Amino acid sequence: MSHKMPGIPFRHSATGTTIFTVMSGLAQQYNAINLSQGFPDFPLDAGLSRMLFDASASGFNQYAPMPGLPMLRQAIADDFANRYKLTIDPDTEITITPGATYGIYSAFTSILQRGDEVILLEPAYDSYIPNIEMNGAVAVPVSLVAPDFRVDWQKVKDAVTPRTRAVIINTPQNPTGAVWSRSDWDELAAIVRDTDIYVLSDEVYEQLIFDGHEHRTVMQHPELRFRSFALYSFGKVFNNTGWKIGYCIAPPQLTNAFRHVHQFMAFCVNTPAQYALAGFLRAATAEPVGRVMESKRDLFLSKLAETPFTVQVPTKGSYFQIASYERISDLPDMEFAQWLTKEHGVATIPVSAFYRNRQDDHLIRFCFAKKEETLMAAIERLRAVPVK
Ligand code: PMP
Ligand code: GLN
Repeated sequence: MSHKMPGIPFRHSATGTTIFTVMSGLAQQYNAINLSQGFPDFPLDAGLSRMLFDASASGFNQYAPMPGLPMLRQAIADDFANRYKLTIDPDTEITITPGATYGIYSAFTSILQRGDEVILLEPAYDSYIPNIEMNGAVAVPVSLVAPDFRVDWQKVKDAVTPRTRAVIINTPQNPTGAVWSRSDWDELAAIVRDTDIYVLSDEVYEQLIFDGHEHRTVMQHPELRFRSFALYSFGKVFNNTGWKIGYCIAPPQLTNAFRHVHQFMAFCVNTPAQYALAGFLRAATAEPVGRVMESKRDLFLSKLAETPFTVQVPTKGSYFQIASYERISDLPDMEFAQWLTKEHGVATIPVSAFYRNRQDDHLIRFCFAKKEETLMAAIERLRAVPVK
């Protein structure tokens, strides 16, 4: 008897498997030092781990309220009042999500209709385009300008059409480490003024910002705030990416639309972890993650200078650094990253993976959110890479 498999529709145009799975898999296979996928290799604060255990042992193990635990939403509102001098209503403007990737997807789902266009700035986190397309919309990439990967605002303006429904932005930016200035926000505001365009502001690296730069959130912009979703991730702040918990801040009408979707996707988020995060946020004992990562960046950059890799612009935020291998090889970046993993035992991400058209400028991305010994061991191996 022959079995005819029902057809499986393509949900998005990205090919194959996400680069993070590919490179972390290759790192494991070749026992390489993994500076590819972005996650810390050092433990989270022991106090936070204890709070997770205590919450579960105390019996907080059933469904949380759909928008998130009130005490966690209140702790986030207090944190924003403290850090940004902003008043955010925890009941009508904050929703806890299973990570920021989910938050971005759900924000798109709550506003997009078939055929809508969404502008994004490339190179970009690789979930954006699939998330846009899975919602029936069309991704419109606009390239950032190397070497500092600033926004060419005229190009963004030129990309706007009557079908543009949203712009997704990311500061500090993955993978470039670029950070927006006040004037970038004003340029965006001028473009979307008097239009039906929403803004998705991916601010997961808000606290990983260096050299005295200050993060400005979209929620601080008086014009943009009312049309924006801002997405955050505790994973980046508390070094627990595996907990996959984040939150969405949006004005009440947009939060309503967001929850309309969220209630039938995840409904709610891990309860004991929400208790732990609320307690930890309130205790405010966490070591500032920005300072920790800045010293890692400084160490990594000073040592990378002793290898054949070249850095044009030191990263201003996030835990990533882009570097060129022009002195080493002419290989395409995907092949180079594979070669470096297999032959020299260091895994990285080829930057072409962050472009829809796989634009290849012979750049790779390092993640430096690692223990000093990991970074030094990687540098030792990178020093041994021969020049052309
Ligand atoms: N946006 C960007 C730019 C990221 O780099 C990440 C990292 N994974 C996320 C969103 C998603 O964060 P989460 O792990 O909370 O889904
Ligand atoms: N955001 C992380 C990075 O850019 C990884 C997230 C993921 O694995 N999907 O490395």
